[in-house]
Amino acid sequence: MAKKQGYTTSSVHTPFVKDDAYSALHMPIYDGVAYEFESSLEMEKVFTGQKVAHVYSRTSNPTVGYFEEKLKRISGAKNAMSFSSGMAAITTTLLSIVPPGGNIVSSNQLFGHTYAFLKSTIQRWNIQVKFVDMNNLAQVAAAIDKQTGLLFFETITNPQLEIFDIEALAALAHSNNIPLVADSTLTPPYVFNSLDAGVDVEVISTTKFISGGAAAVGGAILDNGSFDWSNSLALKEWDTNFPGNALMARIRKEMFRHLGGSMTAHTAHFLILGLDTLALRVDRCVENCMALGKYFEQHTKVVAVNYPGLKSSVGYARSKKYFSGKPGAVMTIDLKTKESCYQFMDGLKMVRRATNLNDNKTLIIHPSSTIYAEFSDTDRENMALRDTMLRLSVGIEDVQDLIEDFKQAFYIV
Ligand SMILES: *Cc1c(COP(=O)(O)O)cnc(C)c1O
Repeated sequence: MAKKQGYTTSSVHTPFVKDDAYSALHMPIYDGVAYEFESSLEMEKVFTGQKVAHVYSRTSNPTVGYFEEKLKRISGAKNAMSFSSGMAAITTTLLSIVPPGGNIVSSNQLFGHTYAFLKSTIQRWNIQVKFVDMNNLAQVAAAIDKQTGLLFFETITNPQLEIFDIEALAALAHSNNIPLVADSTLTPPYVFNSLDAGVDVEVISTTKFISGGAAAVGGAILDNGSFDWSNSLALKEWDTNFPGNALMARIRKEMFRHLGGSMTAHTAHFLILGLDTLALRVDRCVENCMALGKYFEQHTKVVAVNYPGLKSSVGYARSKKYFSGKPGAVMTIDLKTKESCYQFMDGLKMVRRATNLNDNKTLIIHPSSTIYAEFSDTDRENMALRDTMLRLSVGIEDVQDLIEDFKQAFYIV
C-alpha cells in the first residue's frame, strides 16, 4: 500500500467523488435543492437504496459530500457526516445512539450549551444524564449501568483545559460494550488521532478551528468504525440493515429527514477551504501560544498561566501523548483580582473582546462574568471558574504584535 500522505497534501488533493462537468479544480458550490433522474426505474433504485445518488439537499448534496470526503480522508475515519452547527452534530448523534429510557454518562465539564442540553432538553426525550468527574475512573465505572448508551467527554475541557486519560475511558466504555463519544472541537483531526486513543465517534463544531476565521457555523461527526453497532440499544436493527454503518445510516435516513440539521453547500464551501489550511493555522496558533505562555509565565502581574503545551501545566503529559504537543489554541491566565482582569481587558487595543474560539484573531473573555454568569457561586466553584481568570483564544497574528498589545495593557493594571 502506498505510504499515507501528510495531512495537508491529503486534504488539498482529495479527489472529487464524480468528475466535474466543467473540470473545475475547486469543488463548486452546488446550491440547488433537487436532483433529476434518467428513468422511473433509476428513481426506484435510488429511493429503495439499490443505487446511491443525491435526491434532495437536506439529506445529501455534492459540495457537502465533498467536505465529508475530505474529512474522511484526513482523519482516517470510516465515515464522516456534517451538520448545520456543532450543536446539531451533538444533539443528533446523542439522540441517534441512546434510546428513550436509556442514559448517558457524561463529563461534568462541558461547553455551556452542551451542558444545558444534557441537563434539561434531552431529559424530555426520556434520556437521563449522569454527570461525573471523568478524572475519577471509579466514579465513571459506578455510573455505567445496563441502560447506558454511551460515554461522553470533551478532549480538552474549556475553560479548565483538563485532558482526561482517554485510553482508560475507552477501556472502561468497551468493557461495558458502549461507545466512547468525544467532542474534539478544540483538537481537530490534524492534531488528534481519535481512533488510536480509543474514541469511537468524534463530534466537532467546525465553526471553530476548521472554518478558518469564523466564517460559517457548522458541525461534523466522524465514525471510526471501531464500535460494533449490533451491541447498541438504539442501533441494533439499523446495523442489521446497514452492517457497520448503522449510525450514519440512521442519521441520514431518519434524523436528517425528520429533524433536519444538515449542512448547506455554502457552509461546506468555507469548510473545504478551512480544512486545506488547518494544519498551517494550528501550527501557527500553537507557536503563538507557546511564546505567549512563556511571556505570561515570567510576568509579575500574572498569577497563573494554563496552556497544556507548557511544561508547567497539568495537562502537559497528556497533551504530548494525545495531541503530539499541539493542544489547540485556548489558554487561560489568572491576574490578582477581578478588577485587574477588567482593567487589563479594557486596555487591549488589538486583541478582541469576544466569546468565540479559534478565530484567526486573538479573542479574550472573562468567563465567570459572561458565559457562566447565570451559574450559582457553588456551581462556579465546583467548575473551578475563578473570577480572577481570563480566557484567551489565540489567533494567527504575528506574536510580537500580540505581546506589544499585552505589554501596554499591563501598564495600567
Ligand atoms: C462551540 C462549541 C460547540 C457548539 O458548536 P456550534 O457550532 O456553535 O453549534 C460545541 N462544543 C464545543 C467544545 C464548542 O466549543
